[in-house]
Amino acid sequence: MLDHLSFSAPEPKTIAGAKHDWELVIGLEVHAQVASKAKLFSGASTQFGSEPNSNVAFVDSAMPGMLPVINEFCVEQAVRTGLGLKAQINLVSAFDRKNYFYPDLPQGYQISQLYHPLVGEGEVIVDMAPGVARRVRIERIHMEQDAGKSIHDMDPNMSFVDLNRTGVALMEIVSRPDIRGPEEAAAYVAKLRQILRYLGTCDGNMQNGNLRADVNVSVCRPGDYEKYQETQDFAHLGTRCEIKNMNSMRFIQQAIDYEAKRQIAILEDGGEIVQETRLYDPDKGETRSMRSKEEAHDYRYFPDPDLLPLEIEQAWVDDIEASLPELPDAKKARFVKDMGLSEYDASVLTADVESADYFEAVADGRDGKLAANWVINELFGRLKKDDRDIADSPVSPAQLGGIIDLIGKGDISGKIAKDLFEIVYTEGGDPAEIVESRGMKQVTDTGAIEAAVDEIIAANPAQVEKARENPKLAGWFVGQVMKATGGKANPKVVNELVSKKLGG
Ligand code: ADP
Ligand code: MG
Repeated sequence: MLDHLSFSAPEPKTIAGAKHDWELVIGLEVHAQVASKAKLFSGASTQFGSEPNSNVAFVDSAMPGMLPVINEFCVEQAVRTGLGLKAQINLVSAFDRKNYFYPDLPQGYQISQLYHPLVGEGEVIVDMAPGVARRVRIERIHMEQDAGKSIHDMDPNMSFVDLNRTGVALMEIVSRPDIRGPEEAAAYVAKLRQILRYLGTCDGNMQNGNLRADVNVSVCRPGDYEKYQETQDFAHLGTRCEIKNMNSMRFIQQAIDYEAKRQIAILEDGGEIVQETRLYDPDKGETRSMRSKEEAHDYRYFPDPDLLPLEIEQAWVDDIEASLPELPDAKKARFVKDMGLSEYDASVLTADVESADYFEAVADGRDGKLAANWVINELFGRLKKDDRDIADSPVSPAQLGGIIDLIGKGDISGKIAKDLFEIVYTEGGDPAEIVESRGMKQVTDTGAIEAAVDEIIAANPAQVEKARENPKLAGWFVGQVMKATGGKANPKVVNELVSKKLGG
């Protein structure tokens, strides 16, 4: 399936101003909010933008004696995600308490999975350029609760706490340190987001914080990463810093870039990197220290006594696997192989499942490349102009297909088809009927076209002289005839007649 891809090794990066060559090593921990209406251990709603503290069950607010009850739907989404990333599903996993104090965490601990995660090793194929990809290994996916939100900027003297998010189900997707540059990190997040959206397990809305990443960055000298690959020994890699809570592809890239330069400057100056958690400030374009490993929390993880180990059955996993949709890599490969699309067009059309479905409906029974051209160049272009989504495209696949069929039948020229598209886009209606009722049909009647050609030739004797000496000037006559017929003359017939008459 991946035969059409070539897997590239990254080039060592020469960083401007650095004395030596350095390579970047990056590992991402992505927190993806499960697309579930209810929380991980309570029935409270997960609705975004609700009145503060309105989606809070007693267990979310840690009322004494309340017990968590696992939400089967959330577990199913995490299994589905694991299967979509070709990962190992662990039939027995367990929940642990990660203890720390924070005002937006009323329990005093977060329920997570440290020792026995639900999902083990998997992979993401990251698309770098058409036909060029890199493989990033997934170490694990575990389930955990989200925390609430502390609000510090609403009052000069007080902070507020909103517990709506408390207890919402997250999937933490941990990559191996296989990512080698800022662009690749962004491409990895983009690909992961795309797969999650295909699977329907996370809506991928980064602005609302439903998908966010902790970005671990270190630098090493050329050759060191190969040693790590051979031995899987982290000792060959540099000390990493972790940049917390990034929810923009652009900022992820900027933060990595800044962080790599910062670390290289320290190392070239004879210093050492301190393992720490940092925050990216997009206004300053810098990362700054949040806490170092020395002052890091001791989370005192231990198995949550309120929850039994989570046991699932292979038959259930198999059922979920059988219900997986066709995923982006497979769809793209099929579009290239069976429908004759270029890598690039196939990538554009498989960016989201709605676009892919739309395209397939248009291409059904028609030429794939032609359908792709119309969907990408005309429809997507037009939607973009209006800042509209494919889901609310005013032109249906049937209507766009109808326009393509009219070109195929020779009823309209490609140029008229664009006018027709605009009419259908703005006014709606059946393309064939519009062509009929507005007299847009292409004139293929040779007699009528011949009359128009004769008229132009008769009216422009000087031009005829010139064109007989220089056949390239025949184009002018074709243009005049097209103009005279309101663009409706069949261009092929016009061309033939013009060259015949000028030649004679
Ligand atoms: P923690 O839970 O303390 O953050 P993990 O071992 O779970 O530590 O690693 C977290 C992330 O850091 C993983 O994505 C991993 O790939 C990445 N990582 C580990 N070592 C390095 C390194 N030297 N450089 C860059 N990323 C690293
Ligand atoms: Mg971490």
